[in-house]
Parts: sequence; C-alpha cells; structure tokens
Amino acid sequence: MFDWLIVGAGFAGSVLAERIASQRGESVLLIDRRNHVGGNAYDWYDDAGILVHRYGPHIFHTNSEQISGYLSQFTEWRPYEHRVLSKVDGKLLPIPINLDTINRLYDLKLDSAQLEQFFADRRESVDEIKTSEDVVVGTVGRELYEKFFRGYTRKQWGVDPSELNKSVTSRVPTRTNQDDRYFTDTFQAMPLNGYARMFEKMLHHPKIKVMLQTDFREVRDQIPFNRLIYTGPVDEFFDWKLGKLPYRSLRFEHRTLEQEQFQPVAVVNYPQTEDYTRITEYKHLTGQKAPKTSISYEYPTDVGDPYYPVPRAENEALYKRYEALANARQDVWFVGRLATYRYYNMDQVVGQALATFRRIQDALPVSAPAAQGLQQEAAE
Ligand code: FAD
Ligand code: UDP
Repeated sequence: MFDWLIVGAGFAGSVLAERIASQRGESVLLIDRRNHVGGNAYDWYDDAGILVHRYGPHIFHTNSEQISGYLSQFTEWRPYEHRVLSKVDGKLLPIPINLDTINRLYDLKLDSAQLEQFFADRRESVDEIKTSEDVVVGTVGRELYEKFFRGYTRKQWGVDPSELNKSVTSRVPTRTNQDDRYFTDTFQAMPLNGYARMFEKMLHHPKIKVMLQTDFREVRDQIPFNRLIYTGPVDEFFDWKLGKLPYRSLRFEHRTLEQEQFQPVAVVNYPQTEDYTRITEYKHLTGQKAPKTSISYEYPTDVGDPYYPVPRAENEALYKRYEALANARQDVWFVGRLATYRYYNMDQVVGQALATFRRIQDALPVSAPAAQGLQQEAAE
C-alpha cells in the first residue's frame, strides 16, 4: 500500500512527490499517462541530437528566491534572457512593443518621452479594463492592437480578444525604453542539462516509484493508496459531470534543418500571417552548438492534450463549481495548472505545490514509522 498516489508527473506532481518522500519519509507512487516525466516542460534529444522541448518553448523565470533556490537543488542553470521578434508588416520587430518597435515600424526617431506622447495620442479611453482587447487598445491604441495582438490572439485562443479576460494580453507589457527582453524577472535561466534531467534528479529517491503510460482513470480502483494528489484536468476527475471545461491545445510540427541557424532569436511570432502562432528555434535557448538546427511550429487547436485553461468569465464560473466539488473532497489535493484551472507559469506551479506541501504538513502529522525512517536516513 502506498502512502500517496500522485497523478501527473509535471511540476505540480513531481515537486510534491519529492517533498513528501524527502521531508515526510512516506512512500509515493507517481503516475503519468504520458511516456515521460516533466509534464509540458519535458525536453529530449531529437534524432539530430538537438535538445528540443516536445511541448513548445519553456523558459524559466521567477522573482522568488524560494522557488529558484528549491529547484537549484536538482539542476545547475544556464543564464538566458528571452527575446522575441514579431513579424509585422513584413518586418521582424521586438515584442513586447518598445521604443525600437515603433521607430522601426513607422520609420521614426522618437525618444522615450515622445513615445509616451505617441501612445497617449492613440490610446482609447476605456471606462473599465475588462477584456484582453481593452488592455491593449487602452495602452497603445487600435492600430497597434490590430497589428500585434488581434490576429495572434484569435489564432491562439479561437476567440476574439474582446471575449477573453484581461489577464491574457496583460501578460505582455508595453515599454517606452529599448528593453527588448520578454521577461524582467530577477531570475531567468534554463536548466543546464535540460528539464528532463532536472526532473529525474528530483524524483530519484527510494520512496518514489514512477509508473508511466498509466492513466488514473484506468487504475484508480486497482492501486491501493492512502491519500491522493491530483494534477490532471479537474473536470475529468469528476467525470465531466458539470460539463466540459475548455482547455486550448496545440499541434506541434517539429523539423530539423540542414543549416546552423534558422532565425535570429529563439521565438518569432506571426500575428498577421500564417496558421501557426510562433516558431521556436531551440538552440538559442539551450546554447547548444551543432551544424543542424531544430525548430517547431505551433498550431493552436481545440482538440488534443489540454495545455491552456481559457480565461473567460463563463469558464471561471464553471470552474468555481468544480472547485466546490474539489474542496468537498478532503481526501484529495488538487494542484497545478489543469487541476486548479489557472494560466500559471512553471514557477507559479512550483510555488503552488510548495504551498500545498506546507498545508499537508499542517494538516497531517507525520506517521511514527515514517518519522523513524527519516531519523535513520538523517543518521546515515
Ligand atoms: P502539466 O505539465 O500539464 O502536467 C500534468 C501531467 O498530468 C501531464 O504530464 C499529464 O500527462 C498528466 N495527467 C493528466 N491527467 C492524467 C491522468 N488521468 N492520469 C495520468 N496522468 C495524467 N511556463 C513558464 O514558466 N515559461 C514558459 O516559457 C512556458 N511556456 C509554455 C509554453 C507552452 C506551449 C505551454 C503549453 C506551457 C508553457 N508554460 C510555460 C507553462 C508550463 O508548461 C506549466 O506552468 C507547467 O508545465 C504546469 O505544470 P503542471 O504540473 O501543473 O501541469
Ligand atoms: N499575444 C499576442 N501577440 C504576441 C504575443 C502575445 O497577441 O505577439 C497575446 C496572446 O493572446 C497570447 C498572450 O498575449 O496568448 C500571452 O502571451 P504569452 O507569450 O505569455 O503566451 P504563452 O507563452 O503563455 O503561450
């Protein structure tokens, strides 16, 4: 009998497996229906020997020393600051929109103060910023919104930005200086040997057993366990009894090219043309040197693995009803992007898992045999 069954070997499930095994001395069976650990952050060496991310570009960034410190137990890091270009009106321009974006797009020579005025002259007054359209037209005006945001968002989410919560496009700031970094967090880096290696190290513990290609729905009545942590989609856990929660998916097209470099930065966005949203060239992220290069195209879709919760009022209302069912299950802990229906970055999921562990510690005293095991481990 396992002390814990954990469903999902992404950040949420793996952090909790590691904490429970190493800090409580209890046994964990960690299952995932995929054939690898790491969840959506999984990376692997493709046939050409290039380290690529199976589920699109994953860049680690955080302002929390607690979170970067925790993960640093399992990996060294390669400093990396992410830069993205957007193909607009045939030009490759920095996104987030900054001083260079505007000067190059319109062939101008504005300084920062003049750019402030440029935006002020164009932004629309919005009484209350509610939607993802409001955020952008209320900051830079409609023309830039249409060039950089409307098409990309429609492709990515399958709905107009006016139908999405403001939190979606709020992820991308607007700048009046020349800072062209995608993120400004104090800690920005890639795991030196990749995410998969980091997860392997995290899960390498005698109290953790990993079972892959194992779906909770198939084994839930067969595997004996005391307590359950669930990091899959919350509506699926409850057999969709209140209806389906929409999750947006992606189809990835991975290609290897017989050339050293394909594009000048790791990610190029396509807000105006093409069916895909962005192309990623992984060597920029990993620093790998090789004569070939591997890239991936992202085609958004409604069918396939659930990747993104869709932040809209009606979905949040449905999630709240599932959350009430989840809260009533004292024996199950729901954690992660799919189980709590939140558009979380990796560091936020790690933070949520560490906070869940603290709640577990408060709620459940460690059993006597497990405590004894821990003492023995410490003595050895
Ligand atoms: P997941 O990684 O989704 O893991 C859940 C696991 O549960 C999956 O492996 C799944 O197979 C398994 N599972 C589900 N149901 C079952 C079941 N019934 N039985 C068994 N197993 C099950 N974040 C960043 O910080 N920076 C980025 O640059 C970034 N880029 C991203 C790019 C893309 C394209 C996507 C989709 C996400 C990106 N993210 C990024 C977000 C990041 O992927 C998530 O925050 C993180 O992976 C969530 O971890 P999780 O454990 O909650 O979920
Ligand atoms: N977005 C956009 N144009 C861009 C970049 C982003 O319209 O060039 C919008 C789009 O709706 C996207 C959201 O902003 O889904 C958040 O962007 P982010 O890069 O954070 O998306 P993620 O990496 O999470 O897919």
